[in-house]
Amino acid sequence: MAVAKLIDGKIKAKKITDFVKRKSVKLREKYGIRPGLAVVVIGEDPASHIYVRNKKRTAESCGFYSRQYTLPENTSEIEVLKLIDDLNGDNVIHGILVQLPLPKHLDEIVITQAISPFKDVDGFHYRNIGKLTSGDTSNAFIPCTPAGCMILIEDEFSNDLSGMNAIVIGRSNIVGRPMASLLLKAHATVTIAHSRTKNLSLLASNADIIIVAVGIPNIVKTNWIKPGATIIDVGINRIGKVIDGKIKMGLTGDVDFDEACSVARAITPVPGGVGPMTIAMLMSNTLLAARLSKKLDENSLN
Ligand code: NDP
Repeated sequence: MAVAKLIDGKIKAKKITDFVKRKSVKLREKYGIRPGLAVVVIGEDPASHIYVRNKKRTAESCGFYSRQYTLPENTSEIEVLKLIDDLNGDNVIHGILVQLPLPKHLDEIVITQAISPFKDVDGFHYRNIGKLTSGDTSNAFIPCTPAGCMILIEDEFSNDLSGMNAIVIGRSNIVGRPMASLLLKAHATVTIAHSRTKNLSLLASNADIIIVAVGIPNIVKTNWIKPGATIIDVGINRIGKVIDGKIKMGLTGDVDFDEACSVARAITPVPGGVGPMTIAMLMSNTLLAARLSKKLDENSLN
């Protein structure tokens, strides 16, 4: 039985954060700029607090200035917008991230669009979405999760996706849509699937690359996978797993990893695949924001 290659997001993410760290030192030494990241978390969602803690920790390990705002669940939209406005005008802050999901009374579009497009390290501002969708990624902030997936995919295919069939399952603004734009820019032939898609198994079985971001464990069945396909599993699901004879809560993706390994050529694990790449790309975007704040090009950090 063939066993798929493990695409190790942790190792790749470490290489990226090491690179960011080195460039961040250069930015400070040569131009006196220390990248600054502000993370805003509103409410009590436990997963959000874990993500924010990891982002802050990684930002500090990259030598960034890092500031966290923890706001109560009942914070009003006006208060959040006032904070964003202050951060937009704060010269030591280059990147602003408002952790999603927001409490229900807050409008995600109003809040994400209030962040300056030049500090929009999550890549959710319409200016950045527009640039990506039109294929112009120069000096644009690309959403961190699809940007991280794309690096893993390009590594697998030596940066050549011409003629590949890719399917993206899930069409959210955070993952699915920007993922499809990146694949299209890289000359793959892209299918976007979602909850209304018919014949998903047939569409998936034609794909050389499957990217799944749904949030349903095992939604991708093994018989949907073309032998030799590459699988990027974005899903994060908390489920009870039997570990040492006891049921413990653990993370799993949208693909049955063990089964898929017998068919796929390469696959990302959950955890340890896409997750670490998301944080690494946030660091990369924050470095970019700091560099662009002084209109410095890439070569200026050599
Ligand atoms: P959303 O809930 O915003 O989007 C889910 C998508 O899945 C929707 O487009 C939905 O379709 C589609 N979908 C739902 N049911 C089906 C189905 N039966 N068949 C096909 N498509 C379906 O989720 P996100 O994009 O924010 O996240 C998706 C997953 O990725 C989650 O598990 C999340 O935790 C994880 N994630 C992981 C990250 C990481 O760093 N590893 C980062 C971000 C997310 P429709 O549009 O029609 O409703």
